[in-house]
Amino acid sequence: MRTFTRCRTKTIQAVKLATSTLQNFLYPKYCFECKCLLNSFEETLCLGCIQNLPVKKTNYNSYSDIKLRLWGRVPVKHTYSLLVLKNNSVKRIIYQFKYYNNITLGLKLSQLMAEDFKSQFHQIKSNQLFDGIIPMPIHYNKLKKRGFNQSLLIAETLSKELNIPVYKNSIIKNRNEKSQTTLNSWKRWENRKGDFEVICKDLLKNKHILIVDDIITSGASIEALYQSLLSISGFSISVCCLAISEN
Ligand SMILES: [Zn+2]
Repeated sequence: MRTFTRCRTKTIQAVKLATSTLQNFLYPKYCFECKCLLNSFEETLCLGCIQNLPVKKTNYNSYSDIKLRLWGRVPVKHTYSLLVLKNNSVKRIIYQFKYYNNITLGLKLSQLMAEDFKSQFHQIKSNQLFDGIIPMPIHYNKLKKRGFNQSLLIAETLSKELNIPVYKNSIIKNRNEKSQTTLNSWKRWENRKGDFEVICKDLLKNKHILIVDDIITSGASIEALYQSLLSISGFSISVCCLAISEN
């Protein structure tokens, strides 16, 4: 019986391999970045391009660039980031996800981030762990135009991997601000004051929340979101992002 089961498993594996090889032959897939032909076990990005990503893993429970940027403005407990926006390759990949609706690429990056984040969990004490995840909200008009909230996609991938809930729509963004890229830190902050509104105050009471964003630059959005939470008792926040900009 055991020999039969072993033979059956091997046959299923061989059929799966043959099917995926045939699919690859009939419908070849190419790496988004270097355009090389992908193997059957690769998705969207080849292993070489993944290895070349400018990874700047931040340990969840140690000091980080994110904490430094938010110093004196937002009392964050813990932080995590996977990449640094250092070269054209990573900028191209993240912008494709964010502005050109490349969801597959976004899911791939989110999965890489979630797996790496989870790998740090053996060092984290249970009282350091967050209760829920809040994706950085985007305004309804932007959501309608873009079709998705990139931070929600990252948050949901993280939630599946860590088995921690996403507090979806617990905070909304009321104002659709103009592009912030040409503004300095102070003007970005002035521009974002009062942007967010907490909808589910009771849900967030006494909770440790992980705020998830795609890219952190000056931290003005995180600060504005934090300000909107100040009327809630007993909350604390940690911050996580896919990539942090260079100083
Ligand atoms: Zn590649």
